[in-house]
Amino acid sequence: MTETQPALLAENINVTFGTTQALKNVTLRVDKGEMVALIGPSGSGKSTLLRVSAGLQLADSTSGASRIFGDRVQEKGKLSPGVRRARAKVGFIFQQFNLVKRISLYSNVLIGALGRMPGWQGVMGRFSPEDRKKAMDSLERVGIAEYAGNRAANLSGGQQQRGAIARAMVQGAQAIFADEPIASLDPVSARNVMRLLAELNEQDGITVVVTLHQVDYALKYCRRAVALKAGEIIYDGPTSGLTRDKLIEIYGDEYIGVL
Ligand code: ADP
Ligand code: MG
Repeated sequence: MTETQPALLAENINVTFGTTQALKNVTLRVDKGEMVALIGPSGSGKSTLLRVSAGLQLADSTSGASRIFGDRVQEKGKLSPGVRRARAKVGFIFQQFNLVKRISLYSNVLIGALGRMPGWQGVMGRFSPEDRKKAMDSLERVGIAEYAGNRAANLSGGQQQRGAIARAMVQGAQAIFADEPIASLDPVSARNVMRLLAELNEQDGITVVVTLHQVDYALKYCRRAVALKAGEIIYDGPTSGLTRDKLIEIYGDEYIGVL
């Protein structure tokens, strides 16, 4: 696929849980190199949109398609044959520090290389010297190389999130999808993680899609925000347009500085 393909194109996505319509005909396009915040109060559909976009969750059969860098993820509620290839281009970061707790930080980061290996190689987990060097280089880059030998369980939340970012780098991810990556962090760690995402976006051209309920961080680190309310996009534009008055207009009492 060509360079002109958007990093993400999710078209006419519907998701229903029982009687809840979590997403209502949502279309999201993110171009290569963008850093976009998905904002909205709890339950507005941020996580569902991110998960469906990456094929971690199926949309309803009434939906259109989701594609990542042109590779089809799902269409009409069915996973596409190319989903593995599409997913390999995305590094995931979640609120609940998704590292393997009982193994070292270094091993966790090295695991990222499996995402680049085709079929059986990935299963066998044969790491090359280049993979190992890349793992250490990435740990240096995110500033936690000194903890390489520590078990992930013994690291702080901020260190674990940086580890997840280093793992995405080893994977060679062209995009990072981060679902509330700073929601469980103290303000200093939160700032550092957002700075790191912004740096990877600016310096390495990695596309970042990040869900945040802390609007301040979206305003500070992202140029574009997509605001969700009850499963619908009600604002998609520059974060500079999200003034306090605009946020109150959109969310009413739900907006109290945070969502
Ligand atoms: P957000 O990330 O913005 O908090 P979610 O995408 O998690 O919102 O949820 C959107 C809506 O879908 C909510 O009403 C939520 O309760 C519902 N929902 C999400 N996941 C599930 C699920 N696995 N089962 C049932 N309902 C769900
Ligand atoms: Mg969520």
